[in-house]
Amino acid sequence: MNTIKDEIWFVAAEMAPLVKAGGLGDVVGSLPKALLKLGLNVRVVIPAYKSLKSSDFIEIKENLAPGRVFFGEIPFDFGVKKGVDRNGIPLILIEQDHFFGRDDIYGPHGGVIGYKDNLWRYSLLAHGALHAMRILGAPYIVHTHDWSGSLMPAVLKQASGFETVRPGIVLTIHNLGYQGVYPIDDFYDTGIDYRFNSSDGYEHFGSFNALKGGIMLSDMVTTVSPTYAKEIISRDNGFGLDGELKKLSKKGGLSGILNGIDEEYWDPKTDEFLQFKLKSNTETGKGPYVLNDYKTIKKFKEGNKKALFSEIGLNLKKNSDENPLPLLGVVSRLTEEKGIDVFLDSLFNWNDFPFQVVILGSGKEYIERKALYLSEIFKDKVYVKVGSYNEALSHKIYAASDIFVMPSKTEPCGLSQMISMRYGGVVIAGDTGGLHDTITDIIHNEKSGNGLLIKNVDVQGVSWAMNEIYNLYNNKEIWGRFVINSINKDFSWNTSALKYKKLYEDIKT
Ligand code: ADP
Repeated sequence: MNTIKDEIWFVAAEMAPLVKAGGLGDVVGSLPKALLKLGLNVRVVIPAYKSLKSSDFIEIKENLAPGRVFFGEIPFDFGVKKGVDRNGIPLILIEQDHFFGRDDIYGPHGGVIGYKDNLWRYSLLAHGALHAMRILGAPYIVHTHDWSGSLMPAVLKQASGFETVRPGIVLTIHNLGYQGVYPIDDFYDTGIDYRFNSSDGYEHFGSFNALKGGIMLSDMVTTVSPTYAKEIISRDNGFGLDGELKKLSKKGGLSGILNGIDEEYWDPKTDEFLQFKLKSNTETGKGPYVLNDYKTIKKFKEGNKKALFSEIGLNLKKNSDENPLPLLGVVSRLTEEKGIDVFLDSLFNWNDFPFQVVILGSGKEYIERKALYLSEIFKDKVYVKVGSYNEALSHKIYAASDIFVMPSKTEPCGLSQMISMRYGGVVIAGDTGGLHDTITDIIHNEKSGNGLLIKNVDVQGVSWAMNEIYNLYNNKEIWGRFVINSINKDFSWNTSALKYKKLYEDIKT
C-alpha cells in the first residue's frame, strides 16, 4: 500500500531558470515558489537534462534507489536524485542519459523539430515520478503539465497500490497546439496499459494523442488564462479537442487561472543581467501607482538602450524632431502562432522606417531567414539574433525596448508581455487569450491603457497598430502615462497561487 502525504508534486518537462523553452518553464519555476510561501509542501519532478547536471543552481542531497521501466521488451534503467534549487524548491531528478543527456529539451530550433523518441522520454519521466512516490510516499496532488506530462495520469491509474486511494491529478494546458500525437502502435512501447487505448483515453482519430489522454484521465484540467479557457472550447480554437474540452467545461472540470511571473527574478531594480537598474528610491507614487515618476523610468530605458546598442553594434537614431526612434523589441519563439512572420512582412512596407528593432528568437527556419533579411536591408536600424536561446540578451531587450511586439494569433497566457510591462514597455499584441486578459487597450482607455490590442493579426492590422503606436510614442503628454500604467500592473502570483491552493483543496475533499 502506498502512503499519501501532505504534499503536491509538479511533474514537468521544464523549470526556469534551470531548463526553459518557453512559458511552461517560467510557470514551473515560479508557481511552486509562490505555493511554498503559502505554506504548501511542493516538490518538482523533472528530467536530469545534460545542462541541469552541471548547474550550480541546484544541490543534490541524496541518490534514491534506481528504477527500471520496460518499453515493449526493452528495459530502461534510470536514476532518481533528491535535491533542492537555489529558490528552496525541493526537486526530484529523473536521470536517464540516453533520453535526457542531450543539448536541447524537445529537439533543435526551440523544439520545432521534436526528437523522434519524445514519447518515450516523457513516458520515462512519468514512470520515474511513480517510482519516486513508491520510495518517498505519494503526494495528495500530482500537478502535471502539457502533453509531456500527460502520461502521468495513466501511469498513476494503472499503478498497483493506488486502487482505493491515489493522488488527485491536475493537468495544466500551457498550449493546446502541442498535443504529442504519435502512431497508435507506439502505445505498445510506452509502458502504458493498453486499456487506455480508447476514446476515453489516448486514442484520437486513430492516433495516440498524449494531451487528449491527459485531459480525459485527470481529475481537473486548468489552463493559463480565463479567456483561453473560453476560446479552446470553440471549434475554431480547440485544435481538434474542443469537443472533449467543452464537455469537461460544462461539468466544471476546466478552469482558466491567469499565470503570474516571478517578480523577484524579473525585477528591473535588481536584475543581475542589467548594467542600468531602475532606481528604487522613486517609489513615491500616490493612489494606484507605486512608481509614478516617468523621468526615472525614462532614464532606466535610455541607459539600457545605450548599453544594449553598444553590445550589439547599433547607433541610436533620431527623427527630424530630435526624438529617438522608438525601439521595438521581440523575444519570442518564431512560429506562425506568434505572428512574428506577419510583423516582419509589415515592416517591409515602410519606406522611411521610423523604428529601431531588436529581435531575439528561434523557431521556423523561414521566419528566421525573413528576420535576417530585414536586418540586412535596414542594417543601421535592425538587429536580429536567431536560432539561439539567450537569457541575458532577453533581459536586456525587455529593459531597453520602448515597445514590445507580440502579435500572437493565439496566446494561452503569454509571459513576455507581462515581463515587458514590468520593465516599462508598452506592448503591441494580438487581442487573444491571456493577452486580452493582461493588456488594457490604449485606444479605448486613454487613462488606464497600457498597450495596443490588434483584432485582426494580418499585415494590415499590424501595420495599423505600428502607425498608431508611432504617433502615440511621439505624443510626449500621453506616452509617459501608458508607461506608468504598464510598470505598475500587478503580475505577481499572489492571487493565482491562492486559486491553485483552493483547487487542490477542492480535489482533496
Ligand atoms: P511561449 O511559452 O508560448 O513560448 P510565453 O510568452 O508564455 O511564450 O513565454 C516565453 C518565455 O520564453 C519568456 O520568458 C521569454 O522571455 C522566453 N524566450 C522566448 N524565446 C527566447 C529566446 N530566444 N531567448 C531567451 N528567452 C526567450
